[in-house]
Amino acid sequence: MQAKKTAVKAWETGDTLILAFPSSSSDGSYLCRVEVLSGKIYVFHSCPAANSRRKCWHIREAERLYKEWRWWDRHINSMQVISLAKPIIYQKDWSEIPVPGTELMEVA
Ligand SMILES: [Zn+2]
Repeated sequence: MQAKKTAVKAWETGDTLILAFPSSSSDGSYLCRVEVLSGKIYVFHSCPAANSRRKCWHIREAERLYKEWRWWDRHINSMQVISLAKPIIYQKDWSEIPVPGTELMEVA
């Protein structure tokens, strides 16, 4: 059985979530940057599929993870999602966080 495809790394900077997805064709990874601007969710991302104007699984998964990360925000599920093909460059000031939904829960 194949493991569920999801992000391998996540970073945050302010209200912005950045996710790294594994590349199936090379050793590299694809970054997705998700943030809310004027009440809409924007997903900035670049990969061969996204660049040919297709909505790749990276974008769908980034949207899902962002909503999970902002679970306390009751407006998040009704927000319009806009995806834009834009390469994301890694920034040193991002702080790495666990990929949303993968944190280990403490059991009492
Ligand atoms: Zn993609």
